[in-house]
Amino acid sequence: MKVRTRFAPSPTGYLHLGGARTALFSWALARHYGGTFILRIEDTDLERSTPAAVEAIIDGMEWLGLHHDEGPYYQMQRMDRYSAVLAAMLAAGTAYHCYSSSSEVEAMREKQRALGKKPRYDGTWRPELGKILPPIPTERKPVIRFKNPLDGEVTWDDLVKGPITISNRELDDLVIARPDGTPTYNFCVAVDDWDMQITHVIRGDDHVNNTPRQLNILYALGAPLPRYGHVPMILGSDGEKLSKRHGAVSVMDYPAQGYLPEAMLNYLSRLGWSHGDDEVFSMEQMCSWFNLEHLSKSPAQFNPEKLAWLNNHYIRIADNKRLAALVKPAMPDAQFEGAPALDAVISLLKERAHTTVELANNAMLFYRQPTPDPTLLTQHITDTVRLALETFVEQCATISWTKEELTTSIKSTLAHHKLKMAELAMPLRLLVTGQLQTPSIDAVLELFGREEVVRRILQGIKNNGKVT
Ligand code: GLU
Repeated sequence: MKVRTRFAPSPTGYLHLGGARTALFSWALARHYGGTFILRIEDTDLERSTPAAVEAIIDGMEWLGLHHDEGPYYQMQRMDRYSAVLAAMLAAGTAYHCYSSSSEVEAMREKQRALGKKPRYDGTWRPELGKILPPIPTERKPVIRFKNPLDGEVTWDDLVKGPITISNRELDDLVIARPDGTPTYNFCVAVDDWDMQITHVIRGDDHVNNTPRQLNILYALGAPLPRYGHVPMILGSDGEKLSKRHGAVSVMDYPAQGYLPEAMLNYLSRLGWSHGDDEVFSMEQMCSWFNLEHLSKSPAQFNPEKLAWLNNHYIRIADNKRLAALVKPAMPDAQFEGAPALDAVISLLKERAHTTVELANNAMLFYRQPTPDPTLLTQHITDTVRLALETFVEQCATISWTKEELTTSIKSTLAHHKLKMAELAMPLRLLVTGQLQTPSIDAVLELFGREEVVRRILQGIKNNGKVT
């Protein structure tokens, strides 16, 4: 069997984390079996669907690298096909025109509620052998209802939840086309899954209630049935439904906040799925492992710290030039001219960075003039230190400009002036970078380059630390 999966978002907002996880699982399953991954835009809700949301979804998928093999198909472009299937169902007697007005349907429901029954359509217009239907009201456009089986049950073996059985008595005769002829949601999904030969439907478990309805429609159409897997929703770390309160829920907020797509993918993979104890893995590995085993029945909790931890891992192993291209736009005030190369700075700073935004902020150290706090200068630059700095500057002129030689020369300066490491390293940091916290001083000095280091120290001493 050729595996065909789909991601079928409704373009009513951004691509949220739950949607991206569904897309990822569907994509990985297709990749695992060498199958086809389809993107289908379910845009029939005209009031809520927008082209901007379509774009946001496509951008999000693009950023994550979840490339589709077919599509995007748009439901609004398939209206002729739905009309044809509706006509065929009416002809086959698996659907019927219903002329009950909405107030009549509401009254039926009220009556059943009053009797303590489940509110549902009472079958007034449902054709049965030997039944005489009411006279058709003039000037009322009918809806089309699906003739749901009255007895029996619908069963499927959910790929996540295991066997699920729903009695047909629980299911109403679903409206599958509105009075203006436009098809409704569950009907379109069933027809699409059939036409697109979907073999596996992976989606959020908010759709579990739709599955028996879609299955019945597929049965009525004589269509092959896909397998269904309903993944539990993603909760916030407090166990509540994931919302803005828990941080960004839109996938495309993450690149802006300095996350790498591979970190997001790795993170999402583990929300409701596992492969042994593996926490860090590539998408090649994910695709080679993802065979629908080990999908979790319980809701996954979103943990921003873990995402940040993974992001740090991927930043550490990322190519410095790639990081530089991501970091640069986040440094609008940087003075790059004459300053150290950004990829070299990144190489020094990336170990500790959890986001590329943090990386950008820390990299600014190298791309602005230092403005050390005068109180700190007075505190750190004593007369002895001033002399030691002069010795160090002299040595700078002759050494070869490497981390190792810088260390040697700092150490010999310390010995000569009987100072401890911090007593020289801190003033050096202050004068050269304007701050006390920096990566290892030899590495920082090496990156700034001989001329700039000497200039900053001398200027600093001259102006009591203030570099102009
Ligand atoms: N369009 C639905 C949604 O965005 C998904 C439908 C499906 O996967 O069957 O929730």
